[in-house]
Amino acid sequence: MSRETAGTADDREPGTDPLLRIEDVRKSYGSEEVLRDVSMTVDRGDVEVLVGPSGSGKSTLLQCINRLTEVDSGRIFLEDLEITAPETDPNEVRGRIGMVFQDINLFTHLTARKNVTLGLEKVRGMDREEARLRADEELDRVGLADQADSYPAQLSGGQKQRVGIARALAMDPELMLFDEPTSALDPELSNEVLAVMEQLVEEGMTMVVVTHEMRFARGGATGITFLDEGEIVERGPPETLFENPDHERTARFFESIR
Ligand code: ADP
Ligand code: MG
Repeated sequence: MSRETAGTADDREPGTDPLLRIEDVRKSYGSEEVLRDVSMTVDRGDVEVLVGPSGSGKSTLLQCINRLTEVDSGRIFLEDLEITAPETDPNEVRGRIGMVFQDINLFTHLTARKNVTLGLEKVRGMDREEARLRADEELDRVGLADQADSYPAQLSGGQKQRVGIARALAMDPELMLFDEPTSALDPELSNEVLAVMEQLVEEGMTMVVVTHEMRFARGGATGITFLDEGEIVERGPPETLFENPDHERTARFFESIR
């Protein structure tokens, strides 16, 4: 896939324009070490795909990035903002980082449009009309201009997930996190969600995506990070990890999801 819209991003040396920096993050639940010394950097405009077996710590890592959970040690930065600093307001973090979950968590008593305007009015302090215009713009961006007045119960799983993406995009995030956004969907509905994500890649959005959709990873990822038992086993460009990984564990994993 071409990425012309990302400007000269592909000509840069890796690590020269970091947006997200994760340094030696550790996290345990009780006696279980869920993240062991995880470090990674995501440059502006990059799309990092995070893969690994169930229970390897992928969701926990995203939750640490968005301050939905606290690290035990290590630090995470979004540009100059230290996300993990105790004095950092989690709401500031979530205002700059959008997240889309596997479970489609829309408010069921609100229309698609209202689901999007809510944050704009409550968090961004937009007036109703401005929020409405912005919401309609974002719903159009995800191909749902004609569903703005529908309630979640009237939408397919793929459409609901796209409303969730529109809601996150409306806040104008610097970084988008996706946690298995298509794993609860049938293949056909997955495709419409993946198409929206591919469009975001084309637009140059910086993204960290947990997914087992290797077609998306092949086409859109700048890098793949393979996590196993809370450790980054290896990271590299998609071709290398798919065809010629350094580690037997990585090869076995890709074999298992093929
Ligand atoms: P993945 O997303 O890769 O499947 P998770 O990050 O969800 O992995 O989970 C990693 C490990 O941490 C699992 O063993 C899981 O049971 C455990 N875990 C995750 N969240 C919690 C929690 N809130 N309390 C206790 N254990 C948790
Ligand atoms: Mg998970």
